[in-house]
Amino acid sequence: MKTLRFISAEALVSDSQVAQKSLGCIAHNLYPLLFKASYLQEQGEMVHDIVQAWPLAELNIGKLLGKTADCEEDLSNRACAICLQAYITGLKDYVLSSSATYAKRLKVVDLTGIKDVEIQPCKCKKTLGRWARTELLSRTCFDLLIEMQRSEVDPSVFSTSIDVLINLFVTDRSYDLAVQTLLMRCHCPLKIRCVAFRADSLALRKLFYIIKLVQPESLQKLEVVHNIHLKMEHLEILLHNVSFPELRSLALPIRTFDVTRLTTESEPVLAHIGEMLSRMTQLREISLPFSILTGRIRRLLR
Ligand SMILES: [Zn+2]
Repeated sequence: MKTLRFISAEALVSDSQVAQKSLGCIAHNLYPLLFKASYLQEQGEMVHDIVQAWPLAELNIGKLLGKTADCEEDLSNRACAICLQAYITGLKDYVLSSSATYAKRLKVVDLTGIKDVEIQPCKCKKTLGRWARTELLSRTCFDLLIEMQRSEVDPSVFSTSIDVLINLFVTDRSYDLAVQTLLMRCHCPLKIRCVAFRADSLALRKLFYIIKLVQPESLQKLEVVHNIHLKMEHLEILLHNVSFPELRSLALPIRTFDVTRLTTESEPVLAHIGEMLSRMTQLREISLPFSILTGRIRRLLR
C-alpha cells in the first residue's frame, strides 16, 4: 500500500525536469519521500539531485529504502547500479556545491543498509555490489581531493566533514585505491568509517597493513576469506597486534586451524588465541570453514 503522499511524490519525480526545478522550494521533511520514490522509479538524475541538495543531518539509505509509513515496499535489497552511482556522485556534488540557499547540515551517511542479494529485483538488473560500492566510494573520495586543489572551489568544502559508514570489501585489485583513500581520510570531507570489512585475495602483508587503516577499534564484522593464506600463527600475530573491542562476527579462511599438524611449540599458540578471543566481549559468531579442531575446541572457546 502506498499513501497519497507517496503517490504524489512518485508523480512529481516522474517528470525530472519539473522536479529538479521544484527541489529548492520543497519542505525538508519531504526529501526522504522523494528519495524513495526516485529510487523506486530508478530515476538516477533525481536521486543525484536529491542527495546533492540533502537538507537533513542524516542520510541513511537502509532507513530511507526500508518499509516506511508511506510505502510498505522494502527497497533495501536493490543494489541498483543506476541509483547507487547517482547517490555516490550526488554526495560528491553535495560537498562541492556552494551552500548559498541552505546550510549544509549533513553529518552522517550510512550505506550499510543495502542488502546484496543473488537475484537483483530492480528494473535495470545492473548491480553495484559491495566490492563495486567500495571501489566507487574510494574513487569518489580521491576525486574530491583532486577537485579541492582547484582555486575556484567553494571555501565551505574545507570545513565539511561527513562520516560515511560502509561495509568495505577489498581485494588485490582494489587494494591500492582503498589504501590511498584511507590514508588521505583526514584531508577528505567524506570520511570513510568501516562497520564491516571483508578482505579477499590479498597477500598477508597487505591484509596486515590495511587492517590498521580501517579503524579496527570500531569494526563490528571482519571477514578474511578466499585466497588469503592465514594460518593459526598469523592469526595469533594479528590478534596480538590489533585489537577489535567491538567485533561481533569473525570469519576466517578455510583451514586456518589444523590440529593434526600441531607440534609442542604450536600448542601454546592455540591457547593464546583462545585467551585473546575470550577478551573480545562482543564476539557472538565465528566462522571457521574446514578447520580441524578435534579435541581442542575448549582451548579456543573459553
Ligand atoms: Zn536498477
